[in-house]
Amino acid sequence: MAEKYYITTAIAYTSGKPHIGNSYEIVMADAIARLKRQQGYDVFFQTGTDEHGQKIEERAGKKGVSPRQYVDEISGIVRGICDSLNISYDRFIRTTDPDHERQVQKIFKKLYDQGDIYKGAYEGQYCQECEAFWTESQLVDGKCPDCGMEVKPA
Ligand SMILES: [Zn+2]
Repeated sequence: MAEKYYITTAIAYTSGKPHIGNSYEIVMADAIARLKRQQGYDVFFQTGTDEHGQKIEERAGKKGVSPRQYVDEISGIVRGICDSLNISYDRFIRTTDPDHERQVQKIFKKLYDQGDIYKGAYEGQYCQECEAFWTESQLVDGKCPDCGMEVKPA
């Protein structure tokens, strides 16, 4: 029986149309998957799209569509690029797929039940563009050190 080999890409964030970096990563992972298949491994190659976040909600609102409609369009573009590049993925996963949501809920519940997730209070400077918290000392001229946009206390 062939040894199993699992490979995944990062899943493309659906806040906007994909960029060349998304395609580059997928092509590289595809080359590895194809090599491993030739070497006799039982390969499972996954790619897909990440479809949650405030940025998506905001961009959908600006476009006048629901977040679901927005991510359906972007995810379709990403998948279309994969298919046009003849990417040999075994699964194109979307974080809105019902089986994915069930697995995440299962993991979240396990972490919650063992006390790793609890209600607390946290404040920081939040950059919505980067979806990241920053400390005061990390800010550059009071703005996000990564993208330079305004941060808000959150
Ligand atoms: Zn930022």
